[in-house]
Amino acid sequence: MKQHIQTLAVHAGEKKGKNTDIIQPIHLSTTFERNEDGVTGEYIYTRAENPNRIAVEKKMAAIEGAKSAIAFASGMAAINALFDTLLTPNSHIIIPDDCYHGTRQLLDTFFKRWNVTSEMVDMTVISNVEKAITSNTKLIWIETPSNPQLKITDIEAVVSLAKKNAILTVCDNTFATPILQKTLEMGVDYVMYSSTKFFSGHSDILGGVVLTNKEDETSQSIRTYQKMAGAVPAPFDCWLLNRSLATFPLRFKAQCDNARKIATYLTTHPKIENVFYPGLVTHENHETAKKQMKNGFGSIISILVKGNQETALQFTSKLQIFKHATSLGGVESLVEHRRSVEGTNPISPENLIRLSIGIEHINDLIADLEQALV
Ligand SMILES: *Cc1c(COP(=O)(O)O)cnc(C)c1O
Repeated sequence: MKQHIQTLAVHAGEKKGKNTDIIQPIHLSTTFERNEDGVTGEYIYTRAENPNRIAVEKKMAAIEGAKSAIAFASGMAAINALFDTLLTPNSHIIIPDDCYHGTRQLLDTFFKRWNVTSEMVDMTVISNVEKAITSNTKLIWIETPSNPQLKITDIEAVVSLAKKNAILTVCDNTFATPILQKTLEMGVDYVMYSSTKFFSGHSDILGGVVLTNKEDETSQSIRTYQKMAGAVPAPFDCWLLNRSLATFPLRFKAQCDNARKIATYLTTHPKIENVFYPGLVTHENHETAKKQMKNGFGSIISILVKGNQETALQFTSKLQIFKHATSLGGVESLVEHRRSVEGTNPISPENLIRLSIGIEHINDLIADLEQALV
């Protein structure tokens, strides 16, 4: 019987049978006793496999509807694993111009040493992607909605272009989550998440995951890379993530509902110059968003406050419920001035503030914004 995401989020990956724990214990042991042959065993060594990691990988695969899920110690570790396995020296990779800054910086620093060239394009216009393709292009990296400008890329259009040119595609689907966007069904080869964000939802663990339906040599090498390079999540982190995933569909729905109302409220505010939220009909790529995002438009909103950097920072310091901190996707609402944290070559406008909407009562959140926007 095909189950819904809410049921899978609670039950997928659990062990069944009489006298089995309803809640899986935390398996801290790094090593496991072998069978009589001295070689085999269900588990051998925790870097290679651990019961908590396997359980949470099964749950994430079920939620996505993917054949395999490979968990990492952070979103960046997952991104690095993809680059290290899918790119070769001298490869060319196309990334969105509003790409997560860590992804961009990883390419600009460590992968530059392998002569990997990355090209940033505005993927909201598909012909830009087409023009950027070279004979060395190995990978097109999609991130939609993007961080932090909430730009929307037409996933199916990029996939069809990539397939025509025998280029692999990855989608960083952290903002949309599998509840809004099933990107493997749209044809991307690999989807990745920073599970630090909505999957965890409580701002207390780091994690990353790569999911795929492919079973070829390249996809298997990502599993090998996980075990060999060793950026694996600890058993306790896997246990917490497994626990958090049970409430992820509920939390995320509440967050999306709050965000939609806040985005609408902000569009009417005289102190706000612009609101970026794909659910607004005024969003430049709203039609594409509507086509590929189901069940909502996420809980991240970016705004341009009328004024400059100083005005924007004044607004964030007046907020009382929203905290000024990096990261997103937790139950608590956060704001961040992105330009301040983007390191060298920042791309965000100086008056841009990113809001991550939590599960607090909508009226309290709006009241907080209202008093800070005076
Ligand atoms: C946070 C984030 C990452 C990086 O994940 P970490 O868990 O912080 O390493 C990658 N992509 C997006 C879109 C993110 O928001």
